[in-house]
Amino acid sequence: MKHGKDEKTTNLAFSDVISSRLGGETINLCYQCGTCASSCPVAKITPRFNPREIIKLTLSGEKDEVISGDAIWLCCSCYNCQERCPQKVEIADVIYALRNIAVKEGYIPNIFSEFASAILNDARVVKVSKFVETKRPTLGLPPLQPTGVNALRKILSATGFDKLQQKKEEAT
Ligand code: SF4
Ligand code: SF4
Repeated sequence: MKHGKDEKTTNLAFSDVISSRLGGETINLCYQCGTCASSCPVAKITPRFNPREIIKLTLSGEKDEVISGDAIWLCCSCYNCQERCPQKVEIADVIYALRNIAVKEGYIPNIFSEFASAILNDARVVKVSKFVETKRPTLGLPPLQPTGVNALRKILSATGFDKLQQKKEEAT
């Protein structure tokens, strides 16, 4: 019995954690009408993503299922749902709040980790290949200029971004 009570307390705490974070403030207004899911272009093409379901799981305290799964990373931030939600739940922003917690706890999909690594190393989201470099002049494009990688690294270090990425690299 005691275990059940503790679990419930923990579950309730998760929705409180989200509603107290930047972007998550409106989550408790959701009454599960499903307008977000029927407005979502991603939900239309894959059953793996449903914003109403993400909100429901979060409000139910299913923290592990939400932050360790890939659904929160499928939102393309089009804000369609947010425009249409009758309760003015800021759904895309709630998803950002969930992603931030996921990253903090080490759940970063590999593709985003690769982007992070490229930003830290080259100040570019996508590494420029030799092919691209040699192709540019043939298309009349100027050579790429050096990036301000050192300045960027300072910013990323001040925000702790570099440490999160390092943790992810050590874990893989
Ligand atoms: S549209 Fe708003 S109220 Fe309806 S399920 Fe989605 S988040 Fe909840
Ligand atoms: S912001 Fe995300 S959840 Fe909302 S409609 Fe767009 S893809 Fe779907």
